[in-house]
Amino acid sequence: MAGLQSLSQVKQAMQEYQFHPRKKWGQNFLVDRNITNKIIESCMPIDGQYVVEIGPGLGALTGTLAQRSLGVLAIEIDHGFEPILSELTVQHDNVRLLFADVLSIDIEQELMRAFALKEVPSYMVCANIPYNITSPILFKLLEQCSSLTAATLMIQKEVAQRIVAGPGSKTYGLLSISAGYYATIQYVMTVSRHCFYPEPEVDSSVIRIIPREIMPEVYDEKLFKTLLKAAFQKRRKTMLNICNSFFPQEKAQVEDTIKSIGLDPGARPENLSMEDFVALANRFAKEG
Ligand code: SAH
Repeated sequence: MAGLQSLSQVKQAMQEYQFHPRKKWGQNFLVDRNITNKIIESCMPIDGQYVVEIGPGLGALTGTLAQRSLGVLAIEIDHGFEPILSELTVQHDNVRLLFADVLSIDIEQELMRAFALKEVPSYMVCANIPYNITSPILFKLLEQCSSLTAATLMIQKEVAQRIVAGPGSKTYGLLSISAGYYATIQYVMTVSRHCFYPEPEVDSSVIRIIPREIMPEVYDEKLFKTLLKAAFQKRRKTMLNICNSFFPQEKAQVEDTIKSIGLDPGARPENLSMEDFVALANRFAKEG
């Protein structure tokens, strides 16, 4: 069995196991096999890798992931799915279940424990995640999962557009730069709300995240992050005004510093790339 992948299977399971999808846990089940297959295709190459699945739900992705990979650790908050997911562990001896809040665990420790490994293996994440905790999940993966090789995530379309946006676009901002600092991110596809049951109020997108092997060199990470926040709180202001209220130097000196790294003091934050912000923060960090 590959998990419950169609509308009739999901409806039947709801009757049989007497449960109702919970909004608070973002339970919108994928009921389109075509999309399920495309998501798994976008995880390639998956063989020889472990996979962590966040929120397996009724197992729409889990069984197929198990067939293709070394093993799947499926982390689910809702114990109510235990009878259904346990069937998958019978069908596939390389599926491990962990009933926990993904935000409160150490994913890599749990992966090692689940498969009795001495070291953290290289692994991927594949998940249709609960949309209300997209940012915390994303940054947990980016900041804490150092052996992660790639992540394929289904998220709300608007959020995906903000993550992949480049300088100058309307949706470009703090989220694009913060995510781009840790990883390169590809937009895989848009997924209509009709592919889920119950239907969510928004459309979705699949994105693929590949963590950077070498992180940009930032001398003072705290300064970099607070500068970014300050800049995008005032996105209509010029970089000169933003930096002038942020750094103690005289305005003329601030202007020279911005120019010295080849940036226009009249530019707005949305015109600067992640690398521009890094260069700017590093230059100011050096000047003290
Ligand atoms: N992957 C399934 C279900 C997606 S719905 C499918 O595509 O059909 C999102 C899933 O995430 C639900 O099963 C929900 O119970 C689970 N979930 C929500 N919050 C969670 C959390 N904090 N930790 C782990 N799982 C969570």
